[in-house]
Amino acid sequence: PIQLQQLLAHMSDRPTPKPRAHRKRYSAEELRLAIAGGQLINHYQPKVAFASGAITGVETLVRWDHPEDGLVFPDQFIDLAEECGLIDALTQTVLDSALKQARRWQAAELSLPLAVNVSMDNLTRLEFPELVEQRVAEAGIAPSYLTLEVTESRLMKNRLESLDILTRLRLKRFGLSIDDFGTGHSSLVQLRDIPFTELKIDRDFVRGAPNDASARAILEASLSMAQQLGMTTVAEGVEDLEDWDFLRARGVDVAQGWFIAKPMPADDLSAWIAAWELRRPVLLGRPQ
Ligand code: C2E
Ligand code: MG
Ligand code: MG
Ligand code: MG
Repeated sequence: PIQLQQLLAHMSDRPTPKPRAHRKRYSAEELRLAIAGGQLINHYQPKVAFASGAITGVETLVRWDHPEDGLVFPDQFIDLAEECGLIDALTQTVLDSALKQARRWQAAELSLPLAVNVSMDNLTRLEFPELVEQRVAEAGIAPSYLTLEVTESRLMKNRLESLDILTRLRLKRFGLSIDDFGTGHSSLVQLRDIPFTELKIDRDFVRGAPNDASARAILEASLSMAQQLGMTTVAEGVEDLEDWDFLRARGVDVAQGWFIAKPMPADDLSAWIAAWELRRPVLLGRPQ
């Protein structure tokens, strides 16, 4: 049973257990040991449908639970992992624990589609699609429950190879999401060539839209293009009620951001769901 205290804690900004670590340069060796030693943990951030408030899934966001520095965020070690050849090991670790978690949710009769971020460097290995397929099958999860998010600004590297691997992943029925859309360079060509199922509009881009006519025009063009291509549209970085109302009115499908929930440890999710089910009718029932 969930206590009122707990519910209220989830509705306000919950204090995180450990403070955000200072910026620090880590070495490849430190990161390698962290991956091998189980110091990487997944947090999960819920996504909800703008129209109904229904929970549509969770995005997996990796953190380094550092013994001295506290919780270290991915902007401090993903580039390093890519530079020193640790990104395959990192992705595999993140994917495996997300799949383990998905199994636990299934056992608790929670059906939560899962998104995992992958690096462009993962998409240069031809065996990647088979590897993911095998892991997902072992976990007893349907491929359509897993979406792989790829950051748009990195898509240009190794274009042909990654195109091939993304197409194979899609043929295996995984969802494919183009992340941080609006920040890259060759969006239109990639939308044509790669069978993406979802488009995530970057937070920086979303933020400008309510007050900047040209940002708004680009946002609206991107949305209508995605809709015509049959893609699900997601707005990331929905931070307040104003963002929510603005994007909802523009027909974006899915909302993700601190206004709905911050990324959280898996164990906090059921309490958040209970709180959301109380908040949802209030949010959607407001006179427009
Ligand atoms: P992303 O995939 O675009 O994820 C969204 C980021 O925005 C996350 O930052 C999330 O915590 C943050 N965020 C969510 N809602 C809000 C909001 O309302 N306001 C603001 N200001 N921020 C919000 P995070 O967790 O620090 O991750 C940063 C990036 O690191 C991710 O961006 C993703 O590109 C990368 N990343 C995270 N986990 C992984 C992973 O397992 N593998 C790889 N390759 N990359 C990862
Ligand atoms: Mg992402
Ligand atoms: Mg993103
Ligand atoms: Mg982003």
